[in-house]
Amino acid sequence: MKPELIGKQIPVLDKGFVELQDMMGDDLAIVNAARTSFLGESKGGDKDKKLLFYLMEHHHDGPFEFVQFRFRIKAPIMIWWQFVRHRTMSYNLQSGRYVEYDENEFYIPETWRLQAKSNKQGSDGVLVDAVELTALLEEHYNKSYALYEQALAQGVAREQARLFLPAFAAYHTGCVSVDARNLLHFLKLRTAPDAQWEIRQVALAIQEIVKEGLPWTFEAYQKFHLGVSQP
Ligand SMILES: Cc1cc2nc3c(=O)[nH]c(=O)nc-3n(C[C@H](O)[C@H](O)[C@H](O)COP(=O)(O)OP(=O)(O)OC[C@H]3O[C@@H](n4cnc5c(N)ncnc54)[C@H](O)[C@@H]3O)c2cc1C
Repeated sequence: MKPELIGKQIPVLDKGFVELQDMMGDDLAIVNAARTSFLGESKGGDKDKKLLFYLMEHHHDGPFEFVQFRFRIKAPIMIWWQFVRHRTMSYNLQSGRYVEYDENEFYIPETWRLQAKSNKQGSDGVLVDAVELTALLEEHYNKSYALYEQALAQGVAREQARLFLPAFAAYHTGCVSVDARNLLHFLKLRTAPDAQWEIRQVALAIQEIVKEGLPWTFEAYQKFHLGVSQP
């Protein structure tokens, strides 16, 4: 583990971030977990890297579970909605039942993407004249937030008053704990071109941290899962 990586925070979208809170293990921990099969451990440099590449190539995935990451992530609910489909991760999320939402904690996209014609889920191209739409979105957020405040002022519980808020846009901070095997699976799915652009930005920030924290593993993942060879 690289101590200098702990606390690294990468901004994502207009108000979000990905932060590495903690990491247990490194490339060598994966190699040593694998060598336990025959009661051995690190044989040094090249041999260790070769073994790690062999594990990745032949889907001996268990040893990759011996590295654990803990992230703190701030992202709109739209992203968390997709994130929590990854069932092998552990989550703890900010609760609108405990804390009031802040004004201006709602996602405002930089561009408006057009509905893709070929992919029912996806987007393709951008809306050229989008200034008015963005102004309307901000107006909508302001109105929603004013209603939220009005409900709170009338004594309505936070858990219900939040019904007035634009839910998909509301930023939430959460903690995510996951092992390297399942994190790579997440990265493969969520950095792919068919993943929503917003979650791709989060996945790419996580990927930057994984690349630094587990350089051999990331190189092997790129080679055997993405078909990318290092120059
Ligand atoms: C582009 C895209 C579009 C999507 N669209 C939708 C959508 O419209 N609606 C929707 O609900 N979801 C959608 N998803 C989510 C998707 O269906 C998966 O739930 C999500 O990607 C997590 O993948 P996973 O199950 O492989 O990963 P994880 O849940 O992280 O699990 C990792 C691996 O563990 C194993 N595993 C986990 N749980 C089980 C289990 N119960 N039984 C057996 N093996 C298990 C599997 O091998 C799995 O691959 C979409 C995902 C993507 C990438």
